[in-house]
Amino acid sequence: MRLRNIPRAEGTLQAHKIVIKRPEDQKGCWRQVFGNKHPVRIEVGTGKGRFILNMAKENPDINFVGIERYSSVLLRAVEMYDTDEFKDLQNVRFICIDARRIEEVFGHDEVERIYLNFSDPWPKARHAKRRLTSVEFLERYEKVLMPFGRLEFKTDNTELFNFSLEQMKEAGWTLQCFTYDLHHNEEMNQGNIMTEYEEKFSQKGNPINKLIAVRRQAASQPGTI
Ligand code: SAM
Repeated sequence: MRLRNIPRAEGTLQAHKIVIKRPEDQKGCWRQVFGNKHPVRIEVGTGKGRFILNMAKENPDINFVGIERYSSVLLRAVEMYDTDEFKDLQNVRFICIDARRIEEVFGHDEVERIYLNFSDPWPKARHAKRRLTSVEFLERYEKVLMPFGRLEFKTDNTELFNFSLEQMKEAGWTLQCFTYDLHHNEEMNQGNIMTEYEEKFSQKGNPINKLIAVRRQAASQPGTI
């Protein structure tokens, strides 16, 4: 994402009720943040917020947390929340952190589902560990995802997608389904909510890849090796 520093971003995020300021204080307590026992789903790299806000609007019985590392980008998501379409939503929050810190913010088994949408490709091999679908990140997700919790990943970048399929296998995750052309796959595209990048790239004619994978089960659980 091209980034322009917006000086007022930090202050706006600090003052906004939808942004959790010290998210590490909520570790293990996210249900209290929302005041209900509904499942918590997160989007890592939420960008300008279109996906998560629409998901929250369509799924009032699920709590959503959008994670974005840049305040100038998250500002856009907060501004979108403030529009008439989203400003009354109670089931969404944002946090401004690097997702490498995810285990500091969510407790063991606290997250029901993780969404990754159009994650940065980090094309250089030496940066592979920074990719949000790398084994290193999958190990972090495992610590916060509940058993049988799942990860959904969309991208138009086929190299990153193939890398991700490999990484899922290497990390021992179970691949439930995948497609190299989401918008022409009736079953997987059902109820699909477009992200900003998805709209941009599909308008250019790029096919969209999607995979759904289930967390590796802990060795101590019955039925696992
Ligand atoms: N998900 C949005 C979409 O599909 O339109 C935005 C996609 S944009 C290419 C990727 C976003 O992920 C950027 O806003 C970037 O700042 C964020 N991001 C990348 N790595 C991250 C990390 N480690 N922690 C938090 N956010 C991250």
